[in-house]
Amino acid sequence: MNHILSNGLRVDIPDDIEKYLAQETVDWFLAEISRQVEKREEQLYVPGNWTCDECGFVLVSMTMCASTGEMGANNWPHDCANGHGPMRRTTEREARMQAQDTATELFEQVRVLKNAGVFQGEVHKWMLTCFGEDITADRDERNHRFLEEALELVQSTGCTAEEAHQLVDYVFNRPVGDPPQECGGVMVTLAAWCIANKLDLQQCARTELDRIWLDIPKIRAKQAAKPRHSPLPQ
Ligand SMILES: [Zn+2]
Repeated sequence: MNHILSNGLRVDIPDDIEKYLAQETVDWFLAEISRQVEKREEQLYVPGNWTCDECGFVLVSMTMCASTGEMGANNWPHDCANGHGPMRRTTEREARMQAQDTATELFEQVRVLKNAGVFQGEVHKWMLTCFGEDITADRDERNHRFLEEALELVQSTGCTAEEAHQLVDYVFNRPVGDPPQECGGVMVTLAAWCIANKLDLQQCARTELDRIWLDIPKIRAKQAAKPRHSPLPQ
């Protein structure tokens, strides 16, 4: 005979067996199956968590008990908010894999932030190793090398010498700026430049720093050969 349990599960006990069982035995047997299924479902599904396979919509549904005010998971079937019909319960395995993906993403963000924070310190270490304290502290030298790199950057993506000359005249005819604010402006426009050119600022910075650590003898030789007190590198 077919029995339908409170959670909708069908249990078929063959008639030739059921006729030998007392009604209490059958009831106990069915109640025990219900308890076991409920126990397994607890291990299998995330309480109150529903997934739509059609659109990936995930619903977390809680209910409040009116008399006690306690919150609990709502495990009654739900329809997808995007009109795809009944959703299914999210399994613990899916939840674990989602948690794993989120953790991987967060670790990556932490790595990027950590690199961003220590980058200046790492460049400082490289400068001292490659050039020593005097050149590292030489502000004119730093101005010239920075300007050279900035010009090479814009040249590599289509800025002409004519345009650069126009901007030199424009800037030097205006009031002198405040170094911390101008530094911020450089960082913001560089990040914006990366967006327009589909490049990752942190990744480019890291790649270049890795490269120059391996190229110290050549960089030192170039520095030694360049004319003193001239902005030009050679
Ligand atoms: Zn849907």
